[in-house]
Amino acid sequence: MMGDGFYAQNTNNSSKNKKKKKKRGGGKKKKMTAEQTRALKSVNEWVYLNRSSSSSSSSSDYDDFIPRSVTYTRASDNVSFEMHSHSTCSDGFLSPKALVEKAHQNGVKVLALTDHDTMSGIPEALEAARKYGIKIIPGVEISTIYSIIGDSASEEPVHILAYYSSCGPVRFEDLEKFLANIRDGRFPRAKSMVSKLNRLKVPLKWEHVMKIAGSGVAPGRLHVARALVEAGYVENLKQAFARYLYDGGPAYSKGSEPSAEEAILLIRETGGLSVLAHPWALKNPVQIIKRLKEAGLHGIEVYRSDGKLAAYSDLADAYGLLKLGGADFHGRGGHDERPLGSVSLPVLAVHEFLKLARPIWCKAIRDILERYADDPSESNLELIVRFNKMRISKGRHCKDLIDLCLSSWLTKEEVQTAEFAATMLKLSHVAVN
Ligand SMILES: [Zn+2]
Ligand SMILES: [Zn+2]
Repeated sequence: MMGDGFYAQNTNNSSKNKKKKKKRGGGKKKKMTAEQTRALKSVNEWVYLNRSSSSSSSSSDYDDFIPRSVTYTRASDNVSFEMHSHSTCSDGFLSPKALVEKAHQNGVKVLALTDHDTMSGIPEALEAARKYGIKIIPGVEISTIYSIIGDSASEEPVHILAYYSSCGPVRFEDLEKFLANIRDGRFPRAKSMVSKLNRLKVPLKWEHVMKIAGSGVAPGRLHVARALVEAGYVENLKQAFARYLYDGGPAYSKGSEPSAEEAILLIRETGGLSVLAHPWALKNPVQIIKRLKEAGLHGIEVYRSDGKLAAYSDLADAYGLLKLGGADFHGRGGHDERPLGSVSLPVLAVHEFLKLARPIWCKAIRDILERYADDPSESNLELIVRFNKMRISKGRHCKDLIDLCLSSWLTKEEVQTAEFAATMLKLSHVAVN
């Protein structure tokens, strides 16, 4: 989302600056508590999971997964997770590959790619991330509308972040159809914004917007704003939003977004976690958070580069929601953009997230594997390896393949549960052909 505040501080933590503790939040940071230490250990275990410790270390595909110099413990109570980022697959300026490179430069260890209404950048990001030992959380930021039936004044756009396992959503087709609907709605929406601009005597051309969006990319508000800047009708993006494109602005148009509740339900059903993005940009945050919690929302963004927002943190506590946050990085450059990885998430917040997410992801992965075990068709195999563009050698034992897919995601303990063992047993009879 654009125009929801500007921050320039980079509090990116690397293990190098552990000694020169930064003064934040009044500088009352002390030594880590026992709870934090335990949480950090558990988080790091997941971050640096790899197969080398497992039974089937025969696969060389992941030999380069963990860089030699990885630091396994960091004397910091913040961890380098970036949970909100965009690429050229939606309205970001960097390709997924370039985004991952930037994440690496900034010391990010876990990167969630959360493009608007598409997961098309995930395979490229995963491929690039392997080289740096960065873990990619397949994500998406879904454009929705919140409204109360019969009260059109309550209507406002709401962005819901979804976080999935390494194998992505269960029933990918359903989610994809849902997202495709939203993307298709972006064309008439952007067209409508352009004609509103034209009526306001701003002769912006539709072709210009499409050129900026790039081929195959559904146009968004930011693309219209960039076209306005490029054509010289406004001085900068901020002005494009402030003058024309803000929610309810003179050239603003609604798309065909689903309701926020629908999106949350679908995320739940497909094995993801749902998190309300930038609640501080909402007109009516308290009411919306309350309603979305009832619909099954898992968390809300609370942390920004400028620290924790106490009001939203209190709301999260009041409704039993996870507290997350990210830079919402678009890579547009400029002094007012928060750098990728600039939001320091406390280790306890990340720990809570993973504690809730992992059983959900674990079940999702099991469901996807079961589906293939029951019907070992090409298309069901595709579902497992959709994000991992790995070579599938003929005759390769299926279990190896699965190991390869899960190597960075599940612990031995998670795979050794009775349920998982049953799935794996089924799979062991299936050969990839
Ligand atoms: Zn957003
Ligand atoms: Zn965003």
